[in-house]
Amino acid sequence: MSSEVIVTIGGERRSVPLGTRIRELLDGARRREIVAARVNGRVVDLGSPIDADAEVEPIAASSPEGLEVLRHSTAHLMAQAVQGLFPGTQVTIGPVIEDGFFYDFAPPRPFTVEDLPRIEARMRELAKANLPVERIEESREAARERFRAMGEDYKVEIIEQIPESTVSLYRQGGWLDLCRGPHVPSTGYLRAFKLTSVAGAYWRGDEHNPMLSRIYGTAFASKEELEEHLKLLEMARTRDHRKLGREMGLFIFDPIAPGSPFFLPKGAIIYNQLIDYIRRLYARYGFDEVVTPQLYKNQLWHTSGHWENFRENMFLTTDGENRSGELDYAFKPMNCPGHTFIYGAEKRSYRDLPLRIADFGRLHRAERSGTLHGLTRVRAMAQDDAHIFCTPEQVESEIDLNLRMVRDIYGALGFEQMEAKVATMPEKHLGEERMWRETEATLGRALERNGLAYELNPGEGAFYGPKIEIDIPDALKRRWQLATIQLDFNMPERFDLTFTTSAGTEARPVMIHRAILGSLERFIGVLLEHTGGVLPFWLAPEQARVLSLSEKVEGYAGEIAGLLKGKGFRASADLRNEKLGFKVREAELAKVPFMAVVGEREAEARSVSLRRLRGAKSEVMTLDALIELLKAEPLPS
Ligand SMILES: [Zn+2]
Ligand SMILES: [Zn+2]
Repeated sequence: MSSEVIVTIGGERRSVPLGTRIRELLDGARRREIVAARVNGRVVDLGSPIDADAEVEPIAASSPEGLEVLRHSTAHLMAQAVQGLFPGTQVTIGPVIEDGFFYDFAPPRPFTVEDLPRIEARMRELAKANLPVERIEESREAARERFRAMGEDYKVEIIEQIPESTVSLYRQGGWLDLCRGPHVPSTGYLRAFKLTSVAGAYWRGDEHNPMLSRIYGTAFASKEELEEHLKLLEMARTRDHRKLGREMGLFIFDPIAPGSPFFLPKGAIIYNQLIDYIRRLYARYGFDEVVTPQLYKNQLWHTSGHWENFRENMFLTTDGENRSGELDYAFKPMNCPGHTFIYGAEKRSYRDLPLRIADFGRLHRAERSGTLHGLTRVRAMAQDDAHIFCTPEQVESEIDLNLRMVRDIYGALGFEQMEAKVATMPEKHLGEERMWRETEATLGRALERNGLAYELNPGEGAFYGPKIEIDIPDALKRRWQLATIQLDFNMPERFDLTFTTSAGTEARPVMIHRAILGSLERFIGVLLEHTGGVLPFWLAPEQARVLSLSEKVEGYAGEIAGLLKGKGFRASADLRNEKLGFKVREAELAKVPFMAVVGEREAEARSVSLRRLRGAKSEVMTLDALIELLKAEPLPS
């Protein structure tokens, strides 16, 4: 048996002794940047020995996979610091999440943000000590006994659910954790990290289990990248839509209706302006709006497949006369099944197609209480939802039409960039692969025709058809998946929908589900954070506010507000006996784009002193000029 193996690294083939550690293959200059390696496709520690011919690809700390290694290693570092500082704390799990990591602890008392600086300081000491991080493999039984002896009940529970007979542990200094790895070679690799927040979290996300104390943090390959990220995080805090919603008087929540926003008059203006705008596009693009029932007998959900696949997320109910106790109705979580009845209500011919029906109907979804988050994760919502029933030949032009709408809408709302994906055939799917591949290619071509570069999202389509997903990066560099255009070959089958072809035969229509804003609630949340509340003029709940300098000009201020309202603008007058600075600050907090200040001089000259939101100086102008200025504000085409 040969004691040499062939290693390919950086395009170079080398013969090295069997058992050589990956670390030894890296050249010195790059050593500190590399945190792990992919060996024959598997991500492993740099300390792993090479035991066969291998393709080795070093993983840099700044790459997505490298960041995961770095962040999870930082989670370990944090847990080590926490257990050192807070004796009696048990560890549970500490996964990597988008932009960082967390670790859930069972401490004698819950952690607070005041604990974080101390933990961070201890982490820095441990990083400075550059403790080697060592992988240990042992039998599941031995590991279980080890953690039992340590009083780590949660780890014991985790180990008992591992099917493999051998488990791996990682040790640094005297501290160790059950873990698959991989990890950085030593704690000295962890140079740029920050603990960001604390929260309560139930063990395994189940509210019947004990409440744990979660600490969130993040780590980057360099201090500069960490700083940049923290800056965005701070911006996100000031732009949190829940905070803006309060400051701008847009919506409230109450525990009486969990996850269900109450839109206040100003919030309802934004809501309805969006709907009005989409309605104008519907008229232009040939969609017909329908209004459909909220409650359906469960039979509908059995036919549609929601009963089987979505029931946990549905609200079930019954009527007051029903004494059997059976919950025989459910609130719709989606409009699609209802729309099949509109299609099926008449005999359809190819001449009727495409049939495009749109619905702003309210939807209810029983999202788990732990996942609810302001407007971005709610239980009650409406979507700019539409379903298109068409012939297979029409799919291409219908996709085109919807992509044109996508461009119009995002352009009007100030989202310049779009990232498109085609989610392709999953392992479990209906229909033949050939049909899937053809349809996926059709979607790809449509995206290209509409000037949208796209990536494939392999295997991520629904089992009933491929999908176009449009992601929007916002001002905080976060990605939101907004529009979806989903082909569906299944629902027409389930509801036995047909049309008569030009040859007189019966055929199945294709159903396309599409939403561009998605849920209006979530969209408003995203838009508020993207714009920091400074909405396009046509969406601003209050477009102009007249601020009076004294009692003497109350009449004049009121007159201007009335004049603007008469011209169709949303305007008001702040006539309170308060200092101008105070009134301006309040108008700024409410994100009113135009503030018209009037004192005696303005009243005499029939003018205003106009301030713009975030503008540096004010400008004196006549009332006619003011109206012209507001009229010149762009409206969505
Ligand atoms: Zn781990
Ligand atoms: Zn649908």
